[in-house]
Amino acid sequence: RKAVVRITTGSQALDELLGGGIETLAITEAFGEFRSGKTQLAHTLCVSTQLPINLHGGNGKVAYIDTEGTFRPDRIVPIAERFGMDPSAVLDNIIYARAYTYEHQYNLLLGLAAKMSEEPFRLLIVDSVIALFRVDFSGRGELAERQQKLAQMLSRLTKIAEEFNVAVYMTNQVIADPGGGVFISDPKKPAGGHVLAHAATIRLMLRKGKGEQRVCKIFDAPNLPEAEAVFQITPGGIAD
Ligand code: ADP
Ligand code: MG
Repeated sequence: RKAVVRITTGSQALDELLGGGIETLAITEAFGEFRSGKTQLAHTLCVSTQLPINLHGGNGKVAYIDTEGTFRPDRIVPIAERFGMDPSAVLDNIIYARAYTYEHQYNLLLGLAAKMSEEPFRLLIVDSVIALFRVDFSGRGELAERQQKLAQMLSRLTKIAEEFNVAVYMTNQVIADPGGGVFISDPKKPAGGHVLAHAATIRLMLRKGKGEQRVCKIFDAPNLPEAEAVFQITPGGIAD
């Protein structure tokens, strides 16, 4: 049996909300509006995953699939330094790929599985998981097909998490909620419908607070207390 590894986010408050950090053998989804910190959290996890287990890391490599072109290797440098790690060694352990179509994104996952069977990976990032699907299936009447292809891709992510004891961190976009009702205070909801909701083990809703403060809330988990964590985006990555 594989043992769950919990990887620190860089913020103690956020780690506590998550029960110790983001988990392997699971899919963590983060959604929230532009600049809410989804990609900055991804960058921090790229580094913290490489920390030893006793420092709340995963002692493993990172795979990064970028669909929006927002990965910044330069950003890794101060984050690595903050954790007392050698930036170039950290960068060498991040396998990066840019995806341009949903098919490309899917094929990259197939290739990664082969790599993961040879080397110890602990984190797979997909930032964002849905952007290309929304572009490639933007026509009228394409929603059913989009959801079917999305389900296929999400099931690959689940397989990877379970087969290689990897934490999957995927980001999602928010869309206007046409129904209103439940979302009166914030008329936005995560994209991807039921298919995405079911694939995610845990769904994190991020929003902006004051200045560089951000707020994270666990979304739609009836079995967990309604708690929030406040964290900061700093030059050294996510912190308290
Ligand atoms: P999202 O992916 O949710 O759209 P990001 O993760 O890209 O948002 O967050 C962008 C925000 O992160 C910026 O608006 C800024 O507040 C903060 N940020 C980015 N780089 C730095 C840095 N070097 N130091 C401090 N804050 C930063
Ligand atoms: Mg982003």
